[in-house]
Amino acid sequence: MRIAVIGNGIVGTCCAAWLQRDGHHVTFVDPRGPAEATSFGNAGSLSPSACLPVGMPGMWRKVPRWLLDPLGPLAIRWWYAPLVAPWIARFLRASDRAEVVRIATALRGLLAPIFDCYEPLLQRANGMGLMKRSGCLYVYSGEEAARQWAWGMNLRRSLGVELRDIGEEELAELEPDLRGRFRFGILAPENGSTTDPAAFTRCLYAQCVKDDAEAVRARVTGFRLADGGVRALELDNGETLQTDGVVLAGGAWSAQLANRLGPRIPLETQRGYHVTVESNNLALRHTVMAVEHNIMVNPMRMGLRLAGSVEFAGLHAAPDYRRAQILLERGREMFPHLDTTRTSEWMGHRPCLPDSLPVIGRAPRADNAWFAFGHGHVGMCGAASTGREIANLVAGRAPQLDLAPFAPTRFGRA
Ligand SMILES: Cc1cc2nc3c(=O)[nH]c(=O)nc-3n(C[C@H](O)[C@H](O)[C@H](O)COP(=O)(O)OP(=O)(O)OC[C@H]3O[C@@H](n4cnc5c(N)ncnc54)[C@H](O)[C@@H]3O)c2cc1C
Repeated sequence: MRIAVIGNGIVGTCCAAWLQRDGHHVTFVDPRGPAEATSFGNAGSLSPSACLPVGMPGMWRKVPRWLLDPLGPLAIRWWYAPLVAPWIARFLRASDRAEVVRIATALRGLLAPIFDCYEPLLQRANGMGLMKRSGCLYVYSGEEAARQWAWGMNLRRSLGVELRDIGEEELAELEPDLRGRFRFGILAPENGSTTDPAAFTRCLYAQCVKDDAEAVRARVTGFRLADGGVRALELDNGETLQTDGVVLAGGAWSAQLANRLGPRIPLETQRGYHVTVESNNLALRHTVMAVEHNIMVNPMRMGLRLAGSVEFAGLHAAPDYRRAQILLERGREMFPHLDTTRTSEWMGHRPCLPDSLPVIGRAPRADNAWFAFGHGHVGMCGAASTGREIANLVAGRAPQLDLAPFAPTRFGRA
């Protein structure tokens, strides 16, 4: 089958790679090159443990404090607040305990096979060196502080995530750079990371091209539908692209196209920032999640990357790099000896649904179109298993996961 994949990010790339394994001919369609959007500058963590939704029980109580704190992890531009309010109401509704258990169970299903789903693709692309499996340390100022997050950690454990408590001394032995600031940790030994998310995605993409994928540099503006299916894509250069099938993996920009093929999907963007300290003089061996600050720290090949922050301001507003500066400030607090003479900053658009689950499934109004978007904070983690499931759906094979929680119809017509 000729399949058009809309989106050159990690999700589109993994869908393409898995589809090629079934012998399909892939055409990527994207005005940008591979990994030029959100897949470029993320924190690169590949974490089977990252199965908790963003909205957790009791979070609503913390939101006002976060919004008032200029150094806090959350910001909403004032003019965007009325636009995003209905989405936030749904997000908060999805954060009660029963919902969180349901969502975490579904996400765990998607994330547990991260390495099984990436390895065959990376091996073929000669890219195994871009993936490390050195574990992640969740760190806290003390054991007392960690208790606030204990419910979520126990939920992870109940879903089969291996987690080990680490006392102050062992923490300082494992990561001498954390000595003094952090007195308690939880080690997720199975977690991994990539040393460069853009290179990781581009390596897989380049292999797809070697394996005969074509690349069309254009934006898809619409679909030509006939007999219950998509027959061609309309492009912003005035041309059309005939196809036998289409996978929509347009990240945070997917909603407009998705809404033509089914009920409205409430896709929002949570903008996130990174600062990469190129003059990194630390010797971290694990990825480190500073839980109280909500900052992920990953030693990458281009330096030490600190990533995090959630900003609601839609798809078009200019970045507010003060948020990256906040990450740098926190980094200096965490690692007072960090040499920050050379740094770079970046902002990306996480594609987010209110229940923190991506949309994976057949488009409700076209029998040859499939949706693969909305991976939020875990798109690097969930892309390969999403690709495997999309290939199963296209082939008419039974999925290897229960895809019901990811259904494109789950938001109804609202
Ligand atoms: C600060 C930050 C840190 C993060 N850290 C992590 C992490 O550690 N681990 C993790 O798993 N995830 C992380 N994420 C999330 C992860 O980066 C995203 O979930 C993931 O990159 C989304 O990939 P994607 O392929 O769906 O979208 P993108 O990479 O954004 O790609 C979408 C592509 O679709 C194209 N497109 C859109 N509309 C159209 C159209 N109409 N026609 C043609 N092309 C179109 C765009 O041009 C773009 O190239 C982080 C995100 C941020 C912002």
